[in-house]
Amino acid sequence: MQDSSKARLLQVRDALEAAARSADRDPAEIDLIAVSKTFNPDDIRAVIAAGQRRFGENRVQESLAKWPDLREETPDITLDLIGPLQTNKVRDAIGLFDAIHTLDRMRLARALMREMERTGRRPKLFIQVNTGSEPQKSGVLPEAIDPFIAEVRDLGLDPVGLMCIPPVDQAPGPHFALLRKIAARNGLARLSMGMSHDFETAIQFGATDIRVGTAIFGERTTAH
Ligand SMILES: *Cc1c(COP(=O)(O)O)cnc(C)c1O
Repeated sequence: MQDSSKARLLQVRDALEAAARSADRDPAEIDLIAVSKTFNPDDIRAVIAAGQRRFGENRVQESLAKWPDLREETPDITLDLIGPLQTNKVRDAIGLFDAIHTLDRMRLARALMREMERTGRRPKLFIQVNTGSEPQKSGVLPEAIDPFIAEVRDLGLDPVGLMCIPPVDQAPGPHFALLRKIAARNGLARLSMGMSHDFETAIQFGATDIRVGTAIFGERTTAH
């Protein structure tokens, strides 16, 4: 399994490059986040040994259990939080993550701001947009996003980009296009979009940060 994760990582990197070239983009401007949720430290070590340095997790508790040791072994790792963040986990999250992709409410923005001022740590922030307006999904609704970005900036935060997870039952292209449009009109440079099954499409639509789990680590056996 661990040998094959290396082969899969190389395949994903090849596919990233091919998608970038066919979209007339420089592959170097697209960053791969290897999503390691549910996988254990040895699975992750195999991917680190294959050269990957940026990882994503979607739970703070799980990350606290896995990553401090892994980072001590390999200090140049960066870690992204790509799952929902509760305000009572903000302190842990600011302490552990280099980027947070799921800012989606002012209460969370204020908690992040306070903790960033207290610690001097400044993880990159992405604002999650619920592009499909799905009731069960987190993220700011498209009709509320411009004022939300303005309010976040007024507070003193400086988000780097936007993140979305398109509805599972729809073609992702229009959602990626919408995210790109919102980012462009708000002067945001980075687009966190694209997963194992749609990262090539996301690259076509301007993704700068793709979040790929299964295609690198294999199928997850634990429900998440
Ligand atoms: C799990 C997860 C991914 C990776 O999904 P795969 O289909 O395994 O590539 C990407 N983004 C988020 C927010 C996730 O929770």
